[in-house]
Amino acid sequence: MWSFATEPEFQDQLDWIDVFVKQKVEPLDHILGSQWNIHDPRFVKLVRPLQAEVKARGLWACHLGPELGGKGYGQLKLALMNELFGRSRFGPIVFGAQAPDTGNAEILAHYGTPEQKKRFLEPLLNNDIVSCFSMTEPQGGADPLVFTTRAWQEGDEWVIDGEKWFSSNARYAAFFIVMAVTDPDAPPYKRMSMFIVPADTPGIDIKRNLTFYGEPEATHAYMRYNQVRVPKDAMLGGRGDAFVVAQVRLGGGRLHHAMRTVAQARRALEMMCERALSRTTKGELLARKQMVQEKIADSWVQLRQFRLLVLETAWLCDQNKKDYKAVRKNIAAVKAVMPQVLHDISARALHLHGSLGISTEMPFADWLVNSFHVGLADGPTEVHKITVAREVLKDFEGTDKLFPDYHGLAEADRAHDLYDELLGD
Ligand SMILES: Cc1cc2nc3c(=O)[nH]c(=O)nc-3n(C[C@H](O)[C@H](O)[C@H](O)COP(=O)(O)OP(=O)(O)OC[C@H]3O[C@@H](n4cnc5c(N)ncnc54)[C@H](O)[C@@H]3O)c2cc1C
Repeated sequence: MWSFATEPEFQDQLDWIDVFVKQKVEPLDHILGSQWNIHDPRFVKLVRPLQAEVKARGLWACHLGPELGGKGYGQLKLALMNELFGRSRFGPIVFGAQAPDTGNAEILAHYGTPEQKKRFLEPLLNNDIVSCFSMTEPQGGADPLVFTTRAWQEGDEWVIDGEKWFSSNARYAAFFIVMAVTDPDAPPYKRMSMFIVPADTPGIDIKRNLTFYGEPEATHAYMRYNQVRVPKDAMLGGRGDAFVVAQVRLGGGRLHHAMRTVAQARRALEMMCERALSRTTKGELLARKQMVQEKIADSWVQLRQFRLLVLETAWLCDQNKKDYKAVRKNIAAVKAVMPQVLHDISARALHLHGSLGISTEMPFADWLVNSFHVGLADGPTEVHKITVAREVLKDFEGTDKLFPDYHGLAEADRAHDLYDELLGD
Protein backbone atom coordinates (compact mmCIF):
# COMPACT_ATOMS: atom_id res chain seq x y z
CA MET A 1 0.00 0.00 0.00
CA TRP A 2 1.28 3.49 -0.86
CA SER A 3 0.46 6.55 1.15
CA PHE A 4 2.05 9.96 1.58
CA ALA A 5 -0.34 10.95 4.35
CA THR A 6 0.56 11.55 7.99
CA GLU A 7 -1.63 10.11 10.77
CA PRO A 8 -3.79 12.90 12.27
CA GLU A 9 -2.44 12.45 15.84
CA PHE A 10 1.15 12.68 14.65
CA GLN A 11 0.28 15.63 12.40
CA ASP A 12 -0.93 17.43 15.56
CA GLN A 13 2.51 16.87 17.08
CA LEU A 14 4.20 18.14 13.91
CA ASP A 15 2.03 21.26 13.91
CA TRP A 16 2.99 21.90 17.52
CA ILE A 17 6.71 21.43 16.71
CA ASP A 18 6.47 23.84 13.78
CA VAL A 19 5.08 26.68 15.89
CA PHE A 20 7.25 25.91 18.94
CA VAL A 21 10.47 25.91 16.90
CA LYS A 22 9.67 29.12 15.02
CA GLN A 23 8.53 30.99 18.12
CA LYS A 24 10.85 29.75 20.85
CA VAL A 25 13.81 27.79 19.47
CA GLU A 26 14.97 29.76 16.42
CA PRO A 27 15.54 32.92 18.49
CA LEU A 28 18.19 31.04 20.52
CA ASP A 29 20.42 30.93 17.42
CA HIS A 30 20.83 34.72 17.74
CA ILE A 31 21.51 34.74 21.46
CA LEU A 32 23.57 31.72 22.54
CA GLY A 33 26.96 30.38 21.45
CA SER A 34 27.68 26.71 20.88
CA GLN A 35 24.67 24.46 21.32
CA TRP A 36 26.97 21.92 23.02
CA ASN A 37 28.04 24.30 25.78
CA ILE A 38 25.44 22.81 28.08
CA HIS A 39 26.94 24.08 31.34
CA ASP A 40 26.85 27.74 30.25
CA PRO A 41 24.44 29.40 32.74
CA ARG A 42 22.65 31.10 29.80
CA PHE A 43 22.08 27.68 28.18
CA VAL A 44 20.69 26.39 31.47
CA LYS A 45 18.34 29.39 31.78
CA LEU A 46 17.01 29.32 28.22
CA VAL A 47 17.35 25.80 26.84
CA ARG A 48 16.46 23.62 29.83
CA PRO A 49 12.87 24.97 30.09
CA LEU A 50 12.34 24.34 26.36
CA GLN A 51 13.67 20.80 26.72
CA ALA A 52 11.21 20.32 29.59
CA GLU A 53 8.35 21.41 27.30
CA VAL A 54 9.48 18.89 24.67
CA LYS A 55 9.65 16.13 27.30
CA ALA A 56 6.20 17.01 28.64
CA ARG A 57 4.87 16.76 25.10
CA GLY A 58 6.43 13.26 24.78
CA LEU A 59 8.75 14.32 21.97
CA TRP A 60 12.14 13.96 23.68
CA ALA A 61 14.80 11.74 22.05
CA CYS A 62 12.28 10.13 19.73
CA HIS A 63 15.00 8.24 17.86
CA LEU A 64 15.36 5.94 20.89
CA GLY A 65 13.41 2.79 21.52
CA PRO A 66 11.13 2.67 24.59
CA GLU A 67 13.71 0.53 26.42
CA LEU A 68 15.98 3.60 26.41
CA GLY A 69 13.27 6.07 27.36
CA GLY A 70 12.35 7.21 23.84
CA LYS A 71 9.16 6.89 21.85
CA GLY A 72 10.64 4.47 19.32
CA TYR A 73 9.02 6.47 16.55
CA GLY A 74 11.43 5.16 13.93
CA GLN A 75 13.30 7.03 11.23
CA LEU A 76 10.34 8.15 9.13
CA LYS A 77 8.64 10.06 11.91
CA LEU A 78 12.01 11.34 13.01
CA ALA A 79 12.56 12.68 9.48
CA LEU A 80 9.26 14.55 9.61
CA MET A 81 10.24 16.04 12.97
CA ASN A 82 13.79 16.89 11.90
CA GLU A 83 12.64 18.79 8.85
CA LEU A 84 10.87 21.12 11.27
CA PHE A 85 13.30 21.44 14.16
CA GLY A 86 16.35 21.23 11.85
CA ARG A 87 15.62 24.86 10.85
CA SER A 88 17.40 25.99 13.97
CA ARG A 89 20.94 25.29 15.22
CA PHE A 90 19.38 24.64 18.64
CA GLY A 91 16.51 22.51 17.32
CA PRO A 92 18.21 19.11 17.68
CA ILE A 93 19.48 19.73 21.23
CA VAL A 94 16.08 21.05 22.39
CA PHE A 95 14.54 17.78 21.10
CA GLY A 96 17.33 15.52 22.45
CA ALA A 97 18.39 14.40 18.97
CA GLN A 98 21.73 16.14 18.36
CA ALA A 99 24.80 14.77 16.62
CA PRO A 100 27.21 13.35 17.57
CA ASP A 101 25.44 12.28 20.77
CA THR A 102 22.69 10.29 19.02
CA GLY A 103 25.25 8.10 17.24
CA ASN A 104 27.48 7.75 20.29
CA ALA A 105 24.45 6.73 22.35
CA GLU A 106 23.69 4.03 19.79
CA ILE A 107 27.22 2.67 20.17
CA LEU A 108 26.96 2.63 23.96
CA ALA A 109 23.51 1.05 23.86
CA HIS A 110 24.90 -1.72 21.64
CA TYR A 111 28.32 -2.30 23.14
CA GLY A 112 28.57 -0.62 26.56
CA THR A 113 28.89 -2.56 29.81
CA PRO A 114 26.09 -2.02 32.39
CA GLU A 115 28.46 0.23 34.33
CA GLN A 116 29.34 2.33 31.22
CA LYS A 117 25.66 2.64 30.39
CA LYS A 118 24.89 3.89 33.89
CA ARG A 119 27.83 6.31 33.95
CA PHE A 120 27.66 7.64 30.37
CA LEU A 121 24.58 6.53 28.42
CA GLU A 122 21.92 7.60 30.92
CA PRO A 123 23.23 11.17 31.39
CA LEU A 124 23.91 11.42 27.65
CA LEU A 125 20.32 10.56 26.79
CA ASN A 126 19.18 13.18 29.27
CA ASN A 127 21.60 15.77 27.82
CA ASP A 128 23.24 16.12 31.25
CA ILE A 129 26.51 15.49 29.38
CA VAL A 130 27.64 15.67 25.73
CA SER A 131 30.14 13.48 23.89
CA CYS A 132 32.72 13.40 21.12
CA PHE A 133 33.49 10.94 18.31
CA SER A 134 37.24 10.98 17.70
CA MET A 135 38.09 9.07 14.54
CA THR A 136 39.57 11.32 11.81
CA GLU A 137 43.34 11.91 11.89
CA PRO A 138 45.32 14.85 10.52
CA GLN A 139 46.87 12.77 7.72
CA GLY A 140 43.46 11.92 6.23
CA GLY A 141 39.85 11.15 7.05
CA ALA A 142 38.44 9.85 3.78
CA ASP A 143 40.66 6.78 4.05
CA PRO A 144 40.58 5.33 7.59
CA LEU A 145 43.22 2.79 6.60
CA VAL A 146 45.86 5.52 7.01
CA PHE A 147 45.04 6.04 10.70
CA THR A 148 48.04 5.54 12.99
CA THR A 149 46.73 6.19 16.53
CA ARG A 150 47.83 3.08 18.40
CA ALA A 151 46.43 1.19 21.38
CA TRP A 152 48.33 -1.56 23.13
CA GLN A 153 47.76 -3.64 26.22
CA GLU A 154 49.76 -3.21 29.43
CA GLY A 155 48.52 -5.48 32.22
CA ASP A 156 44.82 -4.78 32.72
CA GLU A 157 44.88 -1.55 30.75
CA TRP A 158 44.88 -0.29 27.18
CA VAL A 159 47.27 2.54 26.40
CA ILE A 160 46.17 4.89 23.58
CA ASP A 161 48.66 7.14 21.80
CA GLY A 162 48.25 9.33 18.73
CA GLU A 163 46.59 12.37 17.17
CA LYS A 164 43.02 13.01 16.07
CA TRP A 165 41.62 15.80 13.94
CA PHE A 166 38.28 17.66 13.82
CA SER A 167 36.96 15.89 16.92
CA SER A 168 33.80 17.97 17.24
CA ASN A 169 32.74 19.21 20.69
CA ALA A 170 35.83 17.74 22.38
CA ARG A 171 36.02 20.83 24.61
CA TYR A 172 32.58 20.14 26.10
CA ALA A 173 32.53 16.32 25.96
CA ALA A 174 32.35 14.12 29.07
CA PHE A 175 33.75 11.19 27.08
CA PHE A 176 35.34 10.35 23.75
CA ILE A 177 34.82 7.39 21.49
CA VAL A 178 38.24 6.80 19.96
CA MET A 179 39.31 4.55 17.09
CA ALA A 180 42.82 3.11 17.41
CA VAL A 181 45.03 0.50 15.76
CA THR A 182 45.28 -2.51 18.09
CA ASP A 183 46.34 -5.16 15.57
CA PRO A 184 48.67 -3.64 12.97
CA ASP A 185 49.35 -7.01 11.30
CA ALA A 186 45.71 -8.03 10.85
CA PRO A 187 43.84 -7.61 7.52
CA PRO A 188 43.15 -3.90 6.79
CA TYR A 189 39.58 -3.78 8.11
CA LYS A 190 40.40 -5.78 11.26
CA ARG A 191 43.31 -3.64 12.49
CA MET A 192 41.38 -1.14 14.59
CA SER A 193 39.24 -1.23 17.74
CA MET A 194 36.96 1.31 19.39
CA PHE A 195 37.40 2.65 22.93
CA ILE A 196 35.47 4.81 25.34
CA VAL A 197 37.73 7.33 27.06
CA PRO A 198 36.39 9.53 29.91
CA ALA A 199 37.34 13.18 29.42
CA ASP A 200 39.06 13.40 32.81
CA THR A 201 41.57 10.65 31.91
CA PRO A 202 45.15 12.00 32.20
CA GLY A 203 47.00 12.51 28.89
CA ILE A 204 44.19 13.98 26.76
CA ASP A 205 45.40 17.20 25.19
CA ILE A 206 43.44 19.56 22.93
CA LYS A 207 46.18 21.15 20.80
CA ARG A 208 43.75 23.69 19.33
CA ASN A 209 40.13 24.13 18.36
CA LEU A 210 39.15 24.90 14.77
CA THR A 211 36.01 26.44 13.38
CA PHE A 212 34.43 27.21 10.03
CA TYR A 213 32.61 30.26 8.75
CA GLY A 214 29.21 30.71 10.35
CA GLU A 215 29.92 28.82 13.56
CA PRO A 216 29.70 30.82 16.78
CA GLU A 217 32.67 29.07 18.45
CA ALA A 218 35.71 26.94 17.65
CA THR A 219 34.66 23.42 18.65
CA HIS A 220 36.48 21.00 16.28
CA ALA A 221 39.55 19.81 18.16
CA TYR A 222 43.00 18.87 16.98
CA MET A 223 43.80 16.35 19.71
CA ARG A 224 46.72 14.43 21.09
CA TYR A 225 46.19 11.31 23.17
CA ASN A 226 49.44 11.00 25.17
CA GLN A 227 49.66 7.39 26.35
CA VAL A 228 46.12 7.62 27.71
CA ARG A 229 45.31 4.66 29.94
CA VAL A 230 41.87 3.06 30.08
CA PRO A 231 40.70 -0.20 31.66
CA LYS A 232 40.32 -3.38 29.59
CA ASP A 233 36.56 -3.06 29.38
CA ALA A 234 36.88 0.37 27.70
CA MET A 235 36.96 -1.49 24.38
CA LEU A 236 33.55 -1.18 22.69
CA GLY A 237 32.74 -4.21 20.58
CA GLY A 238 35.27 -6.89 19.74
CA ARG A 239 38.99 -6.46 19.14
CA GLY A 240 39.49 -5.39 15.50
CA ASP A 241 35.79 -4.48 15.10
CA ALA A 242 36.09 -0.67 14.94
CA PHE A 243 34.61 -0.49 11.44
CA VAL A 244 31.58 -2.55 12.44
CA VAL A 245 31.06 -0.39 15.55
CA ALA A 246 31.46 2.85 13.53
CA GLN A 247 28.74 1.77 11.11
CA VAL A 248 26.27 1.52 14.00
CA ARG A 249 26.49 5.30 14.36
CA LEU A 250 27.33 6.53 10.87
CA GLY A 251 24.26 5.16 9.07
CA GLY A 252 21.75 6.96 11.29
CA GLY A 253 24.02 10.00 11.62
CA ARG A 254 24.19 10.55 7.86
CA LEU A 255 20.46 10.24 7.51
CA HIS A 256 19.83 12.69 10.36
CA HIS A 257 22.16 15.24 8.69
CA ALA A 258 20.03 14.86 5.56
CA MET A 259 16.79 15.41 7.49
CA ARG A 260 18.16 18.66 8.92
CA THR A 261 19.43 19.66 5.49
CA VAL A 262 15.85 19.44 4.16
CA ALA A 263 14.90 21.95 6.86
CA GLN A 264 17.66 24.40 5.99
CA ALA A 265 17.07 24.21 2.24
CA ARG A 266 13.34 24.69 2.80
CA ARG A 267 14.01 27.84 4.81
CA ALA A 268 16.18 29.19 2.00
CA LEU A 269 13.40 28.50 -0.51
CA GLU A 270 10.79 30.19 1.71
CA MET A 271 12.97 33.29 1.94
CA MET A 272 13.58 33.25 -1.80
CA CYS A 273 9.83 33.19 -2.48
CA GLU A 274 9.04 35.99 -0.07
CA ARG A 275 11.79 38.15 -1.56
CA ALA A 276 10.65 37.47 -5.12
CA LEU A 277 7.17 38.61 -4.16
CA SER A 278 8.44 41.74 -2.37
CA ARG A 279 11.20 43.29 -4.47
CA THR A 280 10.64 45.09 -7.75
CA THR A 281 13.07 45.99 -10.45
CA LYS A 282 12.37 47.72 -13.77
CA GLY A 283 8.79 48.19 -12.73
CA GLU A 284 7.83 44.63 -11.86
CA LEU A 285 8.18 42.08 -9.09
CA LEU A 286 11.16 39.73 -9.26
CA ALA A 287 8.58 36.94 -9.12
CA ARG A 288 7.37 37.94 -12.61
CA LYS A 289 10.77 37.55 -14.23
CA GLN A 290 11.23 34.20 -15.93
CA MET A 291 14.84 33.74 -14.86
CA VAL A 292 13.73 34.21 -11.25
CA GLN A 293 10.85 31.78 -11.79
CA GLU A 294 13.38 29.26 -13.07
CA LYS A 295 15.39 29.60 -9.84
CA ILE A 296 12.27 29.02 -7.76
CA ALA A 297 11.07 26.10 -9.87
CA ASP A 298 14.51 24.42 -9.91
CA SER A 299 14.81 24.85 -6.14
CA TRP A 300 11.36 23.44 -5.41
CA VAL A 301 11.91 20.42 -7.67
CA GLN A 302 15.41 19.75 -6.30
CA LEU A 303 14.19 19.97 -2.71
CA ARG A 304 11.16 17.81 -3.40
CA GLN A 305 13.25 15.10 -5.05
CA PHE A 306 15.75 15.15 -2.19
CA ARG A 307 13.04 15.07 0.47
CA LEU A 308 11.38 12.08 -1.16
CA LEU A 309 14.71 10.24 -1.21
CA VAL A 310 15.26 11.07 2.47
CA LEU A 311 11.76 9.89 3.40
CA GLU A 312 12.10 6.70 1.36
CA THR A 313 15.45 5.99 3.02
CA ALA A 314 13.97 6.60 6.47
CA TRP A 315 11.08 4.27 5.60
CA LEU A 316 13.49 1.60 4.37
CA CYS A 317 15.45 1.90 7.64
CA ASP A 318 12.24 1.27 9.57
CA GLN A 319 11.36 -1.71 7.36
CA ASN A 320 14.81 -3.22 7.73
CA LYS A 321 15.13 -2.54 11.45
CA LYS A 322 18.52 -0.86 11.15
CA ASP A 323 20.08 -3.56 9.01
CA TYR A 324 22.62 -1.11 7.64
CA LYS A 325 23.60 -3.30 4.70
CA ALA A 326 20.04 -3.34 3.37
CA VAL A 327 19.88 0.46 3.23
CA ARG A 328 23.53 1.21 2.47
CA LYS A 329 22.84 2.32 -1.10
CA ASN A 330 20.07 4.71 -0.07
CA ILE A 331 22.00 6.21 2.84
CA ALA A 332 25.05 6.79 0.66
CA ALA A 333 22.82 8.37 -2.02
CA VAL A 334 21.21 10.72 0.47
CA LYS A 335 24.63 11.68 1.82
CA ALA A 336 26.02 12.25 -1.68
CA VAL A 337 23.17 14.45 -2.89
CA MET A 338 22.59 16.61 0.21
CA PRO A 339 25.58 18.99 -0.20
CA GLN A 340 24.50 19.81 -3.76
CA VAL A 341 20.89 20.49 -2.79
CA LEU A 342 21.85 22.77 0.09
CA HIS A 343 24.54 24.46 -2.00
CA ASP A 344 22.29 25.18 -4.98
CA ILE A 345 19.27 26.42 -3.07
CA SER A 346 21.30 28.57 -0.63
CA ALA A 347 23.28 30.03 -3.52
CA ARG A 348 20.12 30.92 -5.47
CA ALA A 349 18.55 32.46 -2.36
CA LEU A 350 21.70 34.46 -1.66
CA HIS A 351 21.88 35.73 -5.23
CA LEU A 352 18.23 36.66 -5.39
CA HIS A 353 18.65 38.81 -2.27
CA GLY A 354 21.46 40.75 -3.98
CA SER A 355 23.88 42.62 -1.75
CA LEU A 356 21.70 42.00 1.29
CA GLY A 357 21.95 38.27 0.56
CA ILE A 358 25.75 38.15 0.63
CA SER A 359 25.97 40.25 3.80
CA THR A 360 26.54 38.72 7.22
CA GLU A 361 23.12 40.06 8.21
CA MET A 362 21.57 37.16 6.31
CA PRO A 363 22.15 33.40 6.87
CA PHE A 364 22.74 32.36 3.23
CA ALA A 365 26.53 32.38 3.30
CA ASP A 366 26.43 30.26 6.50
CA TRP A 367 24.22 27.74 4.76
CA LEU A 368 26.44 27.75 1.70
CA VAL A 369 29.46 26.92 3.84
CA ASN A 370 27.35 24.39 5.69
CA SER A 371 26.76 22.66 2.36
CA PHE A 372 30.52 21.96 2.31
CA HIS A 373 30.34 20.82 5.93
CA VAL A 374 27.69 18.21 5.13
CA GLY A 375 29.74 17.17 2.10
CA LEU A 376 32.72 16.34 4.35
CA ALA A 377 31.54 15.32 7.82
CA ASP A 378 30.92 11.56 7.95
CA GLY A 379 32.96 11.15 4.77
CA PRO A 380 33.31 13.14 1.54
CA THR A 381 30.77 13.00 -1.27
CA GLU A 382 33.07 11.09 -3.62
CA VAL A 383 33.33 8.16 -1.21
CA HIS A 384 29.53 7.93 -0.94
CA LYS A 385 29.08 8.10 -4.68
CA ILE A 386 31.50 5.18 -4.99
CA THR A 387 29.30 3.23 -2.53
CA VAL A 388 26.15 4.04 -4.52
CA ALA A 389 27.76 2.92 -7.76
CA ARG A 390 29.12 -0.30 -6.19
CA GLU A 391 25.73 -1.18 -4.75
CA VAL A 392 23.91 -0.38 -8.01
CA LEU A 393 26.35 -2.49 -10.01
CA LYS A 394 25.77 -5.50 -7.74
CA ASP A 395 22.40 -6.00 -9.46
CA PHE A 396 23.96 -6.32 -12.92
CA GLU A 397 26.27 -8.60 -14.88
CA GLY A 398 28.47 -7.91 -17.85
CA THR A 399 28.41 -9.92 -21.08
CA ASP A 400 31.23 -11.47 -23.07
CA LYS A 401 29.32 -11.03 -26.35
CA LEU A 402 30.53 -8.47 -28.91
CA PHE A 403 27.17 -6.64 -28.93
CA PRO A 404 25.00 -6.29 -25.85
CA ASP A 405 21.78 -8.27 -25.36
CA TYR A 406 19.81 -5.02 -25.51
CA HIS A 407 21.28 -4.18 -28.91
CA GLY A 408 18.36 -3.02 -31.09
CA LEU A 409 18.80 -5.78 -33.71
CA ALA A 410 18.92 -8.51 -31.06
CA GLU A 411 15.81 -7.11 -29.35
CA ALA A 412 13.97 -6.92 -32.69
CA ASP A 413 14.89 -10.57 -33.44
CA ARG A 414 13.47 -11.64 -30.07
CA ALA A 415 10.32 -9.60 -30.62
CA HIS A 416 9.75 -11.28 -33.98
CA ASP A 417 10.38 -14.74 -32.48
CA LEU A 418 7.69 -13.97 -29.89
CA TYR A 419 4.97 -12.42 -32.06
CA ASP A 420 5.46 -13.31 -35.75
CA GLU A 421 3.47 -16.50 -35.46
CA LEU A 422 0.51 -14.69 -33.87
CA LEU A 423 0.59 -12.07 -36.60
CA GLY A 424 0.88 -14.78 -39.23
CA ASP A 425 4.02 -13.10 -40.66
C1 LIG B 1 32.32 20.27 10.36
C2 LIG B 1 33.02 18.94 10.46
C3 LIG B 1 32.86 18.18 11.60
C4 LIG B 1 33.55 16.97 11.71
N1 LIG B 1 33.42 16.26 12.86
C5 LIG B 1 34.13 15.12 13.01
C6 LIG B 1 34.07 14.41 14.25
O1 LIG B 1 33.35 14.79 15.17
N2 LIG B 1 34.86 13.32 14.40
C7 LIG B 1 35.67 12.87 13.41
O2 LIG B 1 36.33 11.86 13.60
N3 LIG B 1 35.74 13.52 12.22
C8 LIG B 1 35.02 14.65 12.01
N4 LIG B 1 35.09 15.34 10.82
C9 LIG B 1 36.07 14.92 9.82
C10 LIG B 1 35.45 14.32 8.58
O3 LIG B 1 35.03 13.00 8.82
C11 LIG B 1 36.54 14.39 7.48
O4 LIG B 1 36.68 15.76 7.14
C12 LIG B 1 36.22 13.60 6.26
O5 LIG B 1 36.19 12.22 6.52
C13 LIG B 1 37.27 13.87 5.15
O6 LIG B 1 38.56 13.69 5.65
P1 LIG B 1 39.63 14.86 5.45
O7 LIG B 1 39.04 16.13 5.92
O8 LIG B 1 40.91 14.43 6.04
O9 LIG B 1 39.80 14.98 3.87
P2 LIG B 1 40.69 14.06 2.93
O10 LIG B 1 40.62 12.65 3.39
O11 LIG B 1 42.04 14.69 2.81
O12 LIG B 1 39.92 14.22 1.57
C14 LIG B 1 40.00 15.47 0.89
C15 LIG B 1 39.24 15.41 -0.40
O13 LIG B 1 39.75 14.40 -1.24
C16 LIG B 1 38.73 13.97 -2.12
N5 LIG B 1 38.59 12.51 -2.01
C17 LIG B 1 38.71 11.75 -0.91
N6 LIG B 1 38.49 10.44 -1.21
C18 LIG B 1 38.24 10.40 -2.54
C19 LIG B 1 37.94 9.36 -3.47
N7 LIG B 1 37.86 8.08 -3.07
N8 LIG B 1 37.73 9.69 -4.77
C20 LIG B 1 37.82 10.98 -5.19
N9 LIG B 1 38.10 11.99 -4.36
C21 LIG B 1 38.30 11.72 -3.06
C22 LIG B 1 37.44 14.66 -1.67
O14 LIG B 1 37.20 15.80 -2.47
C23 LIG B 1 37.77 15.06 -0.26
O15 LIG B 1 37.01 16.13 0.22
C24 LIG B 1 34.40 16.52 10.64
C25 LIG B 1 34.52 17.31 9.50
C26 LIG B 1 33.85 18.50 9.39
C27 LIG B 1 34.03 19.32 8.14
